[in-house]
Amino acid sequence: MIKPKVVAAGLCFLSRRLDAVLSPLRPARPARVDINLTWRCNLRCRHCFLRYQDHRELGAEDWKKILRSLKSHLGAFPVCLSGGEPLLHKDFFEIARFCDEIGLITILSTNGTLIDSSVAGRLAESNIDIVSVSLESAREEVQDRVRGKGSWQKIMDAVALLKEKLPVQLSTVVMGCNIGELCSLADFAEKNRVHISFQGFYCAPDQLQGSSLSEHELWPREKEAVAGEFDRLIALKAKTRAVSNSVKQLKLLREYYLFPQRLPVPKKKCRAFLRAFELDPEGKMQFCSYGGPVGDLARQSLRQVWASPAVSRTVKAMVSCPKDCSYLNCRYEEGIGDYLHKLLAFLAT
Ligand code: SF4
Ligand code: SF4
Repeated sequence: MIKPKVVAAGLCFLSRRLDAVLSPLRPARPARVDINLTWRCNLRCRHCFLRYQDHRELGAEDWKKILRSLKSHLGAFPVCLSGGEPLLHKDFFEIARFCDEIGLITILSTNGTLIDSSVAGRLAESNIDIVSVSLESAREEVQDRVRGKGSWQKIMDAVALLKEKLPVQLSTVVMGCNIGELCSLADFAEKNRVHISFQGFYCAPDQLQGSSLSEHELWPREKEAVAGEFDRLIALKAKTRAVSNSVKQLKLLREYYLFPQRLPVPKKKCRAFLRAFELDPEGKMQFCSYGGPVGDLARQSLRQVWASPAVSRTVKAMVSCPKDCSYLNCRYEEGIGDYLHKLLAFLAT
Protein backbone atom coordinates (compact mmCIF):
# COMPACT_ATOMS: atom_id res chain seq x y z
CA MET A 1 0.00 0.00 0.00
CA ILE A 2 1.52 3.32 -1.09
CA LYS A 3 1.62 5.92 1.69
CA PRO A 4 -0.25 9.13 0.71
CA LYS A 5 2.80 11.22 1.64
CA VAL A 6 4.95 9.23 -0.83
CA VAL A 7 2.46 10.08 -3.61
CA ALA A 8 2.36 13.75 -2.50
CA ALA A 9 6.17 13.96 -2.46
CA GLY A 10 6.33 12.33 -5.92
CA LEU A 11 3.87 14.87 -7.38
CA CYS A 12 5.80 17.75 -5.77
CA PHE A 13 9.06 16.44 -7.24
CA LEU A 14 7.52 16.30 -10.73
CA SER A 15 6.08 19.82 -10.40
CA ARG A 16 9.49 21.16 -9.30
CA ARG A 17 11.20 19.51 -12.28
CA LEU A 18 8.59 21.14 -14.53
CA ASP A 19 9.28 24.52 -12.86
CA ALA A 20 12.98 24.08 -13.56
CA VAL A 21 12.37 23.23 -17.24
CA LEU A 22 9.86 26.04 -17.80
CA SER A 23 11.78 28.75 -15.93
CA PRO A 24 15.46 27.82 -16.15
CA LEU A 25 16.64 31.33 -15.22
CA ARG A 26 14.67 31.55 -11.98
CA PRO A 27 15.78 29.58 -8.89
CA ALA A 28 13.27 26.73 -8.70
CA ARG A 29 12.18 25.08 -5.46
CA PRO A 30 14.71 22.39 -4.51
CA ALA A 31 13.72 18.75 -4.24
CA ARG A 32 15.03 18.08 -0.70
CA VAL A 33 16.02 19.87 2.48
CA ASP A 34 18.88 18.63 4.69
CA ILE A 35 18.62 19.72 8.30
CA ASN A 36 21.81 19.38 10.32
CA LEU A 37 20.25 19.35 13.79
CA THR A 38 23.60 19.36 15.58
CA TRP A 39 27.32 19.39 14.80
CA ARG A 40 27.99 17.20 17.86
CA CYS A 41 28.93 13.58 17.26
CA ASN A 42 29.86 10.60 19.41
CA LEU A 43 32.36 9.38 16.78
CA ARG A 44 35.54 10.82 15.26
CA CYS A 45 35.67 9.16 11.83
CA ARG A 46 38.88 9.48 9.87
CA HIS A 47 37.18 10.96 6.81
CA CYS A 48 34.91 13.41 8.66
CA PHE A 49 35.15 17.07 7.71
CA LEU A 50 33.07 18.46 10.59
CA ARG A 51 34.83 20.66 13.13
CA TYR A 52 32.81 19.59 16.21
CA GLN A 53 32.56 23.20 17.35
CA ASP A 54 30.04 24.11 19.99
CA HIS A 55 27.12 25.81 18.32
CA ARG A 56 23.78 27.07 19.41
CA GLU A 57 21.18 24.45 18.51
CA LEU A 58 17.59 25.35 17.78
CA GLY A 59 15.02 23.41 19.82
CA ALA A 60 11.81 21.67 18.76
CA GLU A 61 9.58 24.78 18.75
CA ASP A 62 11.98 26.72 16.47
CA TRP A 63 12.25 23.77 14.10
CA LYS A 64 8.47 23.33 13.98
CA LYS A 65 8.08 26.97 12.94
CA ILE A 66 10.74 26.55 10.24
CA LEU A 67 9.28 23.28 8.98
CA ARG A 68 5.81 24.87 8.68
CA SER A 69 7.31 27.74 6.66
CA LEU A 70 9.16 25.26 4.42
CA LYS A 71 6.05 23.17 3.89
CA SER A 72 3.94 26.17 2.88
CA HIS A 73 6.51 27.07 0.20
CA LEU A 74 7.79 23.66 -0.93
CA GLY A 75 4.78 21.37 -0.49
CA ALA A 76 5.49 17.80 0.63
CA PHE A 77 9.28 17.75 0.38
CA PRO A 78 11.62 15.01 1.62
CA VAL A 79 13.57 16.16 4.68
CA CYS A 80 16.82 14.55 5.79
CA LEU A 81 17.59 14.89 9.51
CA SER A 82 21.33 14.80 9.76
CA GLY A 83 24.32 16.18 11.66
CA GLY A 84 26.82 15.49 13.32
CA GLU A 85 24.84 12.67 14.87
CA PRO A 86 21.18 13.82 14.88
CA LEU A 87 20.15 11.35 17.60
CA LEU A 88 22.20 13.47 20.03
CA HIS A 89 19.75 16.36 19.62
CA LYS A 90 17.62 16.56 22.76
CA ASP A 91 14.36 17.05 20.79
CA PHE A 92 15.12 14.65 17.95
CA PHE A 93 11.99 12.50 18.36
CA GLU A 94 9.65 15.47 18.77
CA ILE A 95 11.03 17.02 15.56
CA ALA A 96 10.83 13.70 13.68
CA ARG A 97 7.20 13.16 14.76
CA PHE A 98 6.32 16.69 13.65
CA CYS A 99 7.83 16.06 10.19
CA ASP A 100 5.52 13.05 9.87
CA GLU A 101 2.49 14.97 11.18
CA ILE A 102 2.83 17.60 8.46
CA GLY A 103 3.26 14.92 5.77
CA LEU A 104 6.98 15.09 5.01
CA ILE A 105 9.03 12.11 3.84
CA THR A 106 11.50 11.88 6.72
CA ILE A 107 14.96 10.41 6.29
CA LEU A 108 17.28 9.93 9.25
CA SER A 109 20.98 9.95 8.42
CA THR A 110 22.83 8.35 11.36
CA ASN A 111 26.09 6.61 12.17
CA GLY A 112 23.94 3.85 13.73
CA THR A 113 26.00 3.45 16.90
CA LEU A 114 23.37 4.93 19.25
CA ILE A 115 20.55 2.65 18.10
CA ASP A 116 19.44 -0.01 20.57
CA SER A 117 16.05 -1.74 20.66
CA SER A 118 14.41 1.14 22.51
CA VAL A 119 15.68 3.77 20.02
CA ALA A 120 14.70 1.53 17.06
CA GLY A 121 11.19 1.25 18.53
CA ARG A 122 10.90 5.02 19.00
CA LEU A 123 12.09 5.62 15.42
CA ALA A 124 9.38 3.29 14.13
CA GLU A 125 6.76 5.02 16.33
CA SER A 126 7.89 8.37 14.90
CA ASN A 127 7.12 7.07 11.37
CA ILE A 128 10.58 7.75 10.01
CA ASP A 129 10.38 6.76 6.34
CA ILE A 130 14.00 5.75 5.72
CA VAL A 131 16.94 5.27 8.07
CA SER A 132 20.27 5.77 6.34
CA VAL A 133 23.09 4.08 8.30
CA SER A 134 26.78 4.60 7.53
CA LEU A 135 28.69 1.40 6.78
CA GLU A 136 32.07 1.28 5.04
CA SER A 137 32.88 -2.39 5.36
CA ALA A 138 31.42 -5.78 6.22
CA ARG A 139 34.79 -6.49 7.89
CA GLU A 140 35.03 -5.48 11.53
CA GLU A 141 38.70 -4.42 11.47
CA VAL A 142 38.18 -2.15 8.44
CA GLN A 143 35.03 -0.50 9.77
CA ASP A 144 36.58 0.05 13.19
CA ARG A 145 39.71 1.57 11.64
CA VAL A 146 37.57 4.18 9.81
CA ARG A 147 34.90 4.98 12.41
CA GLY A 148 36.41 3.86 15.71
CA LYS A 149 36.73 0.71 17.78
CA GLY A 150 33.45 -1.10 18.44
CA SER A 151 31.55 0.79 15.72
CA TRP A 152 31.14 -2.25 13.40
CA GLN A 153 29.37 -4.37 16.02
CA LYS A 154 27.06 -1.52 17.01
CA ILE A 155 26.17 -0.83 13.37
CA MET A 156 25.49 -4.53 12.70
CA ASP A 157 23.22 -4.67 15.76
CA ALA A 158 21.44 -1.48 14.66
CA VAL A 159 20.82 -2.78 11.12
CA ALA A 160 19.46 -6.07 12.51
CA LEU A 161 17.05 -4.20 14.80
CA LEU A 162 15.99 -1.54 12.29
CA LYS A 163 15.37 -3.74 9.26
CA GLU A 164 12.50 -5.48 11.07
CA LYS A 165 10.75 -2.16 11.62
CA LEU A 166 11.72 0.38 8.94
CA PRO A 167 13.19 0.74 5.44
CA VAL A 168 16.97 0.91 5.86
CA GLN A 169 19.60 2.23 3.49
CA LEU A 170 23.31 1.67 4.06
CA SER A 171 25.46 4.59 3.07
CA THR A 172 29.01 3.73 2.00
CA VAL A 173 31.84 6.14 1.26
CA VAL A 174 34.15 4.53 -1.31
CA MET A 175 37.77 4.61 -0.07
CA GLY A 176 41.01 2.69 -0.49
CA CYS A 177 40.18 0.39 2.41
CA ASN A 178 36.88 -0.84 0.91
CA ILE A 179 37.41 -0.57 -2.85
CA GLY A 180 37.65 -4.36 -3.14
CA GLU A 181 34.37 -5.06 -1.37
CA LEU A 182 31.73 -2.88 -3.05
CA CYS A 183 30.04 -5.95 -4.56
CA SER A 184 30.16 -7.90 -1.31
CA LEU A 185 28.61 -4.91 0.47
CA ALA A 186 25.85 -4.90 -2.18
CA ASP A 187 25.37 -8.65 -1.54
CA PHE A 188 25.25 -7.98 2.18
CA ALA A 189 22.52 -5.37 1.58
CA GLU A 190 20.55 -7.76 -0.65
CA LYS A 191 20.73 -10.59 1.91
CA ASN A 192 19.56 -8.27 4.65
CA ARG A 193 16.73 -6.82 2.50
CA VAL A 194 18.05 -3.27 2.81
CA HIS A 195 19.35 -0.78 0.22
CA ILE A 196 22.87 0.54 -0.20
CA SER A 197 24.06 3.83 -1.64
CA PHE A 198 27.71 4.41 -2.60
CA GLN A 199 29.15 7.89 -2.15
CA GLY A 200 32.23 9.66 -3.44
CA PHE A 201 35.01 10.41 -0.96
CA TYR A 202 35.11 14.09 -0.14
CA CYS A 203 37.18 16.27 2.16
CA ALA A 204 36.92 19.99 2.85
CA PRO A 205 39.76 21.93 1.16
CA ASP A 206 41.19 23.29 4.46
CA GLN A 207 41.61 19.71 5.73
CA LEU A 208 43.71 18.84 2.72
CA GLN A 209 46.23 21.55 3.65
CA GLY A 210 47.27 22.27 0.11
CA SER A 211 47.43 18.66 -1.12
CA SER A 212 44.92 17.13 -3.51
CA LEU A 213 42.14 14.72 -2.61
CA SER A 214 43.85 11.88 -4.46
CA GLU A 215 46.89 12.25 -2.15
CA HIS A 216 44.74 11.63 0.93
CA GLU A 217 45.62 8.44 2.85
CA LEU A 218 42.05 7.11 2.38
CA TRP A 219 41.96 7.63 -1.40
CA PRO A 220 41.91 4.35 -3.46
CA ARG A 221 45.18 4.26 -5.40
CA GLU A 222 44.93 0.93 -7.25
CA LYS A 223 43.35 1.98 -10.55
CA GLU A 224 42.82 -1.60 -11.74
CA ALA A 225 40.99 -2.44 -8.54
CA VAL A 226 38.82 0.69 -8.93
CA ALA A 227 37.94 -0.06 -12.56
CA GLY A 228 37.34 -3.78 -11.94
CA GLU A 229 35.21 -3.33 -8.83
CA PHE A 230 33.04 -0.60 -10.38
CA ASP A 231 32.56 -2.70 -13.54
CA ARG A 232 31.44 -5.66 -11.42
CA LEU A 233 29.15 -3.42 -9.37
CA ILE A 234 27.56 -1.95 -12.52
CA ALA A 235 26.95 -5.50 -13.81
CA LEU A 236 25.55 -6.54 -10.41
CA LYS A 237 23.24 -3.52 -10.40
CA ALA A 238 21.23 -5.09 -13.25
CA LYS A 239 20.47 -8.11 -11.02
CA THR A 240 19.71 -6.46 -7.69
CA ARG A 241 17.37 -3.78 -6.40
CA ALA A 242 19.61 -3.28 -3.37
CA VAL A 243 21.92 -0.69 -5.00
CA SER A 244 20.25 2.74 -4.92
CA ASN A 245 22.70 4.59 -7.20
CA SER A 246 21.77 4.69 -10.85
CA VAL A 247 24.13 3.14 -13.42
CA LYS A 248 24.79 6.69 -14.66
CA GLN A 249 25.99 7.74 -11.22
CA LEU A 250 28.10 4.59 -10.72
CA LYS A 251 29.86 5.33 -14.03
CA LEU A 252 30.42 8.90 -12.88
CA LEU A 253 31.96 7.66 -9.61
CA ARG A 254 34.20 5.23 -11.52
CA GLU A 255 35.54 8.08 -13.66
CA TYR A 256 35.96 10.29 -10.62
CA TYR A 257 38.20 7.75 -8.88
CA LEU A 258 40.13 6.83 -12.02
CA PHE A 259 40.81 10.40 -13.16
CA PRO A 260 40.60 12.61 -10.06
CA GLN A 261 42.49 15.49 -11.69
CA ARG A 262 40.05 15.64 -14.57
CA LEU A 263 36.41 16.61 -14.42
CA PRO A 264 34.48 13.34 -14.33
CA VAL A 265 32.06 14.39 -17.09
CA PRO A 266 32.00 17.23 -19.57
CA LYS A 267 31.36 20.20 -17.28
CA LYS A 268 27.70 21.10 -16.98
CA LYS A 269 26.49 24.20 -15.21
CA CYS A 270 26.05 23.55 -11.49
CA ARG A 271 22.38 23.16 -10.64
CA ALA A 272 22.85 21.95 -7.07
CA PHE A 273 20.33 24.61 -5.97
CA LEU A 274 17.63 22.47 -7.63
CA ARG A 275 18.73 19.40 -5.74
CA ALA A 276 18.71 20.47 -2.10
CA PHE A 277 19.60 23.10 0.41
CA GLU A 278 21.00 22.70 3.89
CA LEU A 279 20.10 24.22 7.23
CA ASP A 280 22.68 24.33 9.98
CA PRO A 281 21.87 23.76 13.71
CA GLU A 282 21.00 27.48 14.06
CA GLY A 283 18.67 27.55 11.02
CA LYS A 284 21.10 29.25 8.61
CA MET A 285 20.45 28.20 5.05
CA GLN A 286 23.01 27.46 2.36
CA PHE A 287 23.09 25.78 -1.05
CA CYS A 288 26.78 24.95 -1.17
CA SER A 289 29.38 24.72 1.59
CA TYR A 290 31.68 26.94 -0.49
CA GLY A 291 29.05 29.64 -0.86
CA GLY A 292 28.18 30.63 2.72
CA PRO A 293 24.70 31.27 4.14
CA VAL A 294 21.99 32.88 2.01
CA GLY A 295 19.53 33.45 4.86
CA ASP A 296 18.50 32.65 8.40
CA LEU A 297 15.27 30.70 8.72
CA ALA A 298 15.17 31.23 12.48
CA ARG A 299 14.47 34.90 11.66
CA GLN A 300 13.12 34.96 8.10
CA SER A 301 10.47 32.96 6.26
CA LEU A 302 11.60 30.86 3.31
CA ARG A 303 9.62 33.20 1.02
CA GLN A 304 11.65 36.18 2.27
CA VAL A 305 14.94 34.35 1.82
CA TRP A 306 13.91 33.08 -1.60
CA ALA A 307 13.10 36.60 -2.82
CA SER A 308 16.35 38.06 -1.43
CA PRO A 309 19.27 39.29 -3.55
CA ALA A 310 21.52 36.79 -1.68
CA VAL A 311 19.69 33.85 -3.31
CA SER A 312 19.83 35.33 -6.83
CA ARG A 313 23.51 36.23 -6.36
CA THR A 314 24.39 32.76 -5.06
CA VAL A 315 22.47 30.93 -7.79
CA LYS A 316 24.26 33.02 -10.45
CA ALA A 317 27.65 32.26 -8.85
CA MET A 318 26.84 28.54 -8.67
CA VAL A 319 25.86 28.34 -12.33
CA SER A 320 29.28 29.65 -13.30
CA CYS A 321 31.26 27.72 -10.64
CA PRO A 322 34.38 26.11 -12.16
CA LYS A 323 34.23 23.07 -9.82
CA ASP A 324 32.21 19.92 -10.48
CA CYS A 325 30.60 18.15 -7.53
CA SER A 326 28.16 16.06 -9.52
CA TYR A 327 29.77 12.81 -8.25
CA LEU A 328 28.60 13.60 -4.68
CA ASN A 329 25.29 12.01 -3.72
CA CYS A 330 24.08 15.30 -2.31
CA ARG A 331 24.89 17.05 -5.61
CA TYR A 332 24.16 14.36 -8.19
CA GLU A 333 21.31 15.61 -10.29
CA GLU A 334 18.65 12.95 -10.50
CA GLY A 335 16.63 12.65 -13.65
CA ILE A 336 13.01 11.51 -13.64
CA GLY A 337 14.26 7.98 -14.54
CA ASP A 338 16.48 7.92 -11.43
CA TYR A 339 13.59 9.08 -9.30
CA LEU A 340 11.21 6.43 -10.64
CA HIS A 341 13.88 3.77 -10.09
CA LYS A 342 14.25 4.86 -6.47
CA LEU A 343 10.51 5.03 -5.97
CA LEU A 344 10.07 1.47 -7.29
CA ALA A 345 12.91 0.19 -5.08
CA PHE A 346 11.40 2.00 -2.09
CA LEU A 347 7.95 0.56 -2.75
CA ALA A 348 9.41 -2.93 -3.11
CA THR A 349 10.72 -2.90 0.47
S1 SF4 B 1 29.55 9.84 12.22
FE1 SF4 B 1 29.45 11.40 10.63
S2 SF4 B 1 29.53 13.34 11.73
FE2 SF4 B 1 30.20 11.76 13.16
S3 SF4 B 1 32.42 11.75 13.00
FE3 SF4 B 1 31.65 10.21 11.59
S4 SF4 B 1 31.45 11.22 9.60
FE4 SF4 B 1 31.64 12.81 11.20
S1 SF4 C 1 29.85 22.86 -8.39
FE1 SF4 C 1 30.52 24.67 -7.20
S2 SF4 C 1 28.62 25.73 -6.65
FE2 SF4 C 1 28.07 23.68 -7.29
S3 SF4 C 1 27.94 22.50 -5.40
FE3 SF4 C 1 30.04 22.25 -6.24
S4 SF4 C 1 31.28 23.85 -5.25
FE4 SF4 C 1 29.12 24.36 -4.96
